[in-house]
Amino acid sequence: MIGFDLTEQQQDLKRLARRFSEEEIIPRARRYDENETFPQDVAERAFAVGLMNLGVPRDLGGPGLGILDCSLILEELNYGCAGIANFVGANELGTLPIRLAGNDQQQRAYLAPMLEKLTFCAFATTEPGAGSDVAGLRTTYRREGDSFVLNGTKHFISNGSVADWIVVFATRDKRLKHKGISCFVLPATLNGISRTRMHGKLGQRAADTSEIRFDDVRVPADALVGIEGEGFRYAMTTFDYSRPEIGAIAIGISQRALDECLKYSRQRSAFGQAIANFQAVQFMMADMAVEIEAMRLLTYKAAWLVDQGHASNAVSSYAKLFSADACMKITTDAVQIFGGYGYMREYPVEKLMRDAKLLQIYEGTSQIQRLVIARHLLKA
Ligand SMILES: Cc1cc2nc3c(=O)[nH]c(=O)nc-3n(C[C@H](O)[C@H](O)[C@H](O)COP(=O)(O)OP(=O)(O)OC[C@H]3O[C@@H](n4cnc5c(N)ncnc54)[C@H](O)[C@@H]3O)c2cc1C
Repeated sequence: MIGFDLTEQQQDLKRLARRFSEEEIIPRARRYDENETFPQDVAERAFAVGLMNLGVPRDLGGPGLGILDCSLILEELNYGCAGIANFVGANELGTLPIRLAGNDQQQRAYLAPMLEKLTFCAFATTEPGAGSDVAGLRTTYRREGDSFVLNGTKHFISNGSVADWIVVFATRDKRLKHKGISCFVLPATLNGISRTRMHGKLGQRAADTSEIRFDDVRVPADALVGIEGEGFRYAMTTFDYSRPEIGAIAIGISQRALDECLKYSRQRSAFGQAIANFQAVQFMMADMAVEIEAMRLLTYKAAWLVDQGHASNAVSSYAKLFSADACMKITTDAVQIFGGYGYMREYPVEKLMRDAKLLQIYEGTSQIQRLVIARHLLKA
């Protein structure tokens, strides 16, 4: 049986997120992008209206929403501005390893307080020398009595400098590759942690993206998430859950691009008529609409599979790969439809194109998604 209707609750969530996007995000988007302003004020509002941390489980008092519900919200928030909305997705990513592998005490210590006050968290695998190759990470940990001691540098970490707590992946011996990696959760303010926001991004410029250094950071043994040596598996499982949400971000950006094109093409005249009358322009918009529909189908299916307990790394990668690549094409075509004005900051579409590019890079590049899919096909 297949159904495509959203429940009443899902429709309400979408409406709430769309209204929030229109009232709180869109009016700030251009300014925050120009100035690389972290949207603390928007986050406070999002927290107040109940648009954050929706995946915190019900037994901790949270809404316990699934990946599909969260994707619907991300779609609408990212319609407004992917840079501003980035903190919502980054919080999702940070909480996932704790939701998946954290024990009761960790869930109570880190997830439950997110319902009480605005809290940011971060997920840190990437390092200056290891991004796609997660198994090649070099941040180390060693055991000392009842503690672990962490050393190394993570970079490009979303929410990195605003995070209250961080999920960190480190190895006990890099020669062990993926088998040496463990996952830790720790307050971001511990002695030995230093954080620096990285500036100068192409797109999603309001988002906080940071370097985090660990210099002999001592954490108690209970900072270990799950089983020692299983960190790589937790990171990969996290991506199975989070990649459909990147698909949702792509849908939001793409839908905005199409809406802007529909509006502009009716207003702009050339050769004595609206450019919307030209078949070449119509065809670009028709392709956009088809691609957005396909993105929705793939993304919602991947998210639904996760929620049914059948997360599939291949299907999550289908959703992320197709949506990220389609979003890049759609936003590039949107600039084309706007002509010279599309190239100027005064108009909204160049920003959409810049924001879209990141979707092909983070949480596994488009090449890495193809690798995941090909491995799945060949294994079968
Ligand atoms: C704004 C931003 C936010 C981010 N947020 C986070 C975050 O919150 N947490 C986090 O941990 N990371 C984060 N990242 C890091 C991101 O996930 C990595 O940048 C990404 O995984 C790519 O790694 P890399 O930059 O080291 O590129 P590399 O791994 O060096 O890749 C360079 C190129 O080589 C290709 N390549 C690499 N290996 C292969 C292969 N085996 N086959 C084919 N092609 C290959 C890649 O596709 C890419 O085109 C963020 C990055 C950015 C830019």
